Amino acid sequence: MISVVRGMRDLFGAELRAWQRAEEVFRSMSAAFGYEELRTPILEHTELFARGVGQETDIVGKEMYSFEDRGGDSVTLRPEMTAAIVRAAIEHNFVRHSPTTRIWYAGPQFRYERPQKGRYRQFHQYGAECLGSPHPEADVEIISLAYNVLATIGVTKFTLEVNTLGNATSRAAYREALVTYLRANVERLTEDSRRRLERNPLRVLDSKDEQDKPVIAEAPKLSDYLDVESRQHFEAVRLMLDVAGIPYVHNPLLVRGLDYYCHTVFEFTTTELGTQNAIGGGGRYDPLFSLIGGADTPAVGFSLGIERVMMLLEQERGEWGAEKGIDVFAISIGDAARLPLRLISLRLRRQGYSVVEDLQRRSVKAQMRDADKHGARYTITMGDDELAQGTVVVKNMATGEQQSVADTNVEQFLTQL
Ligand code: AMP
Repeated sequence: MISVVRGMRDLFGAELRAWQRAEEVFRSMSAAFGYEELRTPILEHTELFARGVGQETDIVGKEMYSFEDRGGDSVTLRPEMTAAIVRAAIEHNFVRHSPTTRIWYAGPQFRYERPQKGRYRQFHQYGAECLGSPHPEADVEIISLAYNVLATIGVTKFTLEVNTLGNATSRAAYREALVTYLRANVERLTEDSRRRLERNPLRVLDSKDEQDKPVIAEAPKLSDYLDVESRQHFEAVRLMLDVAGIPYVHNPLLVRGLDYYCHTVFEFTTTELGTQNAIGGGGRYDPLFSLIGGADTPAVGFSLGIERVMMLLEQERGEWGAEKGIDVFAISIGDAARLPLRLISLRLRRQGYSVVEDLQRRSVKAQMRDADKHGARYTITMGDDELAQGTVVVKNMATGEQQSVADTNVEQFLTQL
């Protein structure tokens, strides 16, 4: 048997229906904040991610699905969306046309990671990017959109952690102090952290390893290196979060690995999903446009891992929630009624009702059971008598009440119910 590719999953049934309800929230909440959807191709030039995510990151260093296409170009299945959104924004001049450009997206991402619960090689993200504003209110708008999406989907057991990385000057000063300190303590660090120290020193602060923790605890604090501008930006973000009633904790060790982040970074974490504790995150990435070859454009965004949000939802609820349902199941008794009933079904579908009919030519009893399984709200039944009289029997599945209705009147009858 040929099975699904390792680290990838089929989505169906109750779980998929729960995803679709979440997707409705992505769409409607994004629209409520004035964000428009952008769909980019799943394949991009490898160079886009090399530049836009960074050579020194795990993603680019060892997790990308890259290959040469038949024309000899190196292309990559996207491992994240921000670089692609920025590429498209530059290519189509979005920000020149609209000084604040608000974009959302949802779709599959690909990373060759070691699969485990909550970590897949094809996973999905919903996210948004606010392009063109350097001001803290853009950071807060982005956090607020993410927070409201999570709240509306119905998850509650998560924490919003925020931190600031300051502006480029502050970060450079801090980086120097941190590297000096870490080099002096290199013997006490894990292999992983030693490697990070050389390539991306701020990432050492991210280490969850017990061996690294005492070293990190004594490390210089970024907050001591923030200049006035950096402090004011962060203060404004915190004040506006308070005003918006969005609860958060300040985690001074949160750095979110990528070099191009500046000022606000944030993460939504949960203790409910074991080791995969991040359900989403984001931050301000003012330097990214110029890295990808565009004009300097301040920007801030987030992405949520849809699998993890859905796992949390299922865990909190103990189930996927709402069962499937249709409006009508059409039951025919005998051969003669089958075609006329099918015509009524077609008419109802054009009116917007969902209608399912039996395709197995089964007994009435079996069709009734099937109607139940489909979660039909009504059945309409037609046999030889009804056919002769030009009627159908409409049954309300919840109450068991049934009524004979002229076949030309079914739509009207249903709207009254
Ligand atoms: P990142 O772009 O790494 O910050 O990821 C953003 C979010 O995507 C994370 O917080 C996770 O919820 C989700 N995510 C990242 N990698 C994976 C993966 N391999 N499998 C499932 N979800 C993931």
